[in-house]
Amino acid sequence: MAPQREWFEKDYYKTLGVPSTATPKEITSAYRKLAKKHHPDTNPGDDELFKEITAAYDVLGDADKRKEYDEVRTLGPQAGGFPGGFGGGGGGGGFPGAGTTFRVDDAGDFGDLFGGLFGRGRRGGGQTGPQRGADVEAELHLTFEDAVRGVTTSVNLTTDVRCHTCGGSGSAPGTRPDPCPRCGGTGSLQDDQGLFSLSQICPQCSGRGTIVTHPCPTCSGTGTEHRNRSVKVRIPAGVEGGQRIRVKGRGAAGRGGGPAGDLYVIVHVGRHHVFGRKGRNLTLTVPVGFAEAALGTTLTVPTLDDPVTLRVPAGTPSGRTFRVKARGVPGGKKSPTGDLLVTVEVDVPGELTEEQRTAVEELAKVIEPPSRSGLGV
Ligand SMILES: [Zn+2]
Ligand SMILES: [Zn+2]
Repeated sequence: MAPQREWFEKDYYKTLGVPSTATPKEITSAYRKLAKKHHPDTNPGDDELFKEITAAYDVLGDADKRKEYDEVRTLGPQAGGFPGGFGGGGGGGGFPGAGTTFRVDDAGDFGDLFGGLFGRGRRGGGQTGPQRGADVEAELHLTFEDAVRGVTTSVNLTTDVRCHTCGGSGSAPGTRPDPCPRCGGTGSLQDDQGLFSLSQICPQCSGRGTIVTHPCPTCSGTGTEHRNRSVKVRIPAGVEGGQRIRVKGRGAAGRGGGPAGDLYVIVHVGRHHVFGRKGRNLTLTVPVGFAEAALGTTLTVPTLDDPVTLRVPAGTPSGRTFRVKARGVPGGKKSPTGDLLVTVEVDVPGELTEEQRTAVEELAKVIEPPSRSGLGV
């Protein structure tokens, strides 16, 4: 991933509430806590915050990205500081003494600007340099059951893929790239400046050491083409709506031999006609009659597998929840299997037959209404 403009503006460490010296483990645990607390499913309205937390973890949770982020953040002051911050549209940011105001309106321009500062030729180094492919997002709609049990499925996306004509080399079939005439194939230029000998990435070949002299007719030498493709993804058991699943290296193909980007699958989960979800527990509401609740009964309740029998003891109040162990979301490496939480709701008939009315009236004579003295009226 090329450095992002946001990297200058956002303190991801602050977002996750960890010091910049935090270990990967500390970062992951801070992220888990915050993500759980601010998940949009439990806290609608926290969407923005949740997104920020996820964005921070995307970077800090990935060793390579974190390293780049740390570099970007130390680069700011060295390069003279970026007063007013980048972007914001206000034009307030400028290089001191540069005389002109430098405005950056999108990440693409930013990439060009800093590609040079990083000296890695990732961007802005001409069309032939190795470039990492873009990260790609895809939405995936899962049924309730598939989200609970986990599933292997595929998502369709249109991205840059390796060119089918040249296999990604960028050279027309039957031709080969030539050694770069500027650097003689080494990819770098030596520049003697008195005390220092500076090594610079060759601007002509962007460090590859070769140049495409007969561009492939399909991709015009880029080595990639835009195509529809289907990517297989394994969704772990227990995913929740709104979760992002990273599939490493399945994003857009890199250019000029650069690595592919990552695919982020955003999961949407459908509703179930009887079950609900609370984390790894499944929930179920079962109506019972007054007589059943008062005298006790045995219920047959569905699970995602076979139905189970549940004993409801005499004197069960409406709203009581019973736990059926290990019939929730299947466990994984780190999480135990969830339970099925069955809540009984005492059903009051809307209409009574003559016979029922007589019976209930008889009942009313022998059962006192519950005490309401606590209400203070
Ligand atoms: Zn060269
Ligand atoms: Zn091609």
